[in-house]
Amino acid sequence: MALVNPTQLRAEKAKNTQELSIGSAKQTCENVTSDLPKHDYGCDANEVAHSEKYRVTPGTSNLSFVLNEPHSVSYVERPVPKLSAPHDVLVAINYTGICGSDVHYWDHGAIGHFVVKDPMVLGHESAGTVVQVGNAVTSLLPGDRVALEPGYPCRHCEECSAGRYNLCSEIVFAATPPHHGTLTGFWAAPADFCYKLPEHVPLQWGALVEPLAVAVHIVKQARISPGASVVVMGAGPVGILCVAVARAFGASKVVSVDIIEARLDLARSMGATHTYLSQKASAEQNAKSLLERCGLGRGADAVIDASGAEPSIQASLHVVKVGGTFVQGGMGKSDITFPIMAMCQKEVTARGSFRYGPGDFKLAVELIANGSVAVGRLITAVVPFAEAEHAFRRAKSGDAVKMIIAGPNEVLSAGC
Ligand SMILES: [Zn+2]
Ligand SMILES: [Zn+2]
Repeated sequence: MALVNPTQLRAEKAKNTQELSIGSAKQTCENVTSDLPKHDYGCDANEVAHSEKYRVTPGTSNLSFVLNEPHSVSYVERPVPKLSAPHDVLVAINYTGICGSDVHYWDHGAIGHFVVKDPMVLGHESAGTVVQVGNAVTSLLPGDRVALEPGYPCRHCEECSAGRYNLCSEIVFAATPPHHGTLTGFWAAPADFCYKLPEHVPLQWGALVEPLAVAVHIVKQARISPGASVVVMGAGPVGILCVAVARAFGASKVVSVDIIEARLDLARSMGATHTYLSQKASAEQNAKSLLERCGLGRGADAVIDASGAEPSIQASLHVVKVGGTFVQGGMGKSDITFPIMAMCQKEVTARGSFRYGPGDFKLAVELIANGSVAVGRLITAVVPFAEAEHAFRRAKSGDAVKMIIAGPNEVLSAGC
């Protein structure tokens, strides 16, 4: 099948449906919900020059954003991937969110034992448009808008067979060395790892499905029952999404904890019933005042750490109730001082959480589609592909919640 121009394809589909994505249908801006961000190019003169240099023809380029070594990036025109299996589809990438891990690779060139030795394309939180389908694909058609699940397990090992494919040791995960990521023009993927977005869900929101799936997996690990009380440590994108998912799962009291007031305001708008601004005090002291101020009495049914910060993890064990559940979702230092006595004496159930498994992406799409999780509120700005590095700098500065990069095949219409 010939390669289809994704922008043209979506424009055609938009004739009969309310096209919400900005790139292909400037004339329908009034349909964009208030949750969509205003474009913020936020670039200086140098970056504009940079942008001119890398201007591409939408729908044709496989220009990729490549990390060579820390703080050294380049744009490389790579061959458009070919479908390697009959169940694969080719997706034109429209939007990609920047994750903390992408920023970490850009900044340090490694995360733990994953070291960027050869130039690597960054990005793994993407949404795009299907432009080609393999012979055996029945679930998708060219023109379908999809969120990408960016890790492909072997499907044969013990973990895969047991339904824990996120723990597959053979998994090929985007932008985890040595594998390239999704900040590129076209991406080939198994059809069952591409999740069709309903027509009313803007394509930009599709880039938020990946972090939402992370939150879904974490909250599932907390085994929340209706009416439960949940405390979420950390109000970064995943922490805030955990708050929203916990509410969607039936928790009646959800406390968001952070050191930045603005993040707590956002958490409140996403469903937190209470917030707690961490104080410069001991973990035990912070836990005590949190429980008092939030009326949590003997402790929370479940505590989720979405920060990876040692003091938060320590406070979590003092916040959780006797017999409660603690889930470690955030990744920080690999070794910390852990209040093991509190865990032992309270018979706390402690679980880890890593990426996402069966059903998590599907549920994430449903939570967005039915309005349970307003992911659009997390988007700080959408920048053109040519200013990708600017987006990384802004993401690192800490004043952004979620930066989105429009793919090389997406046209951003300024002033929309
Ligand atoms: Zn991510
Ligand atoms: Zn496997």
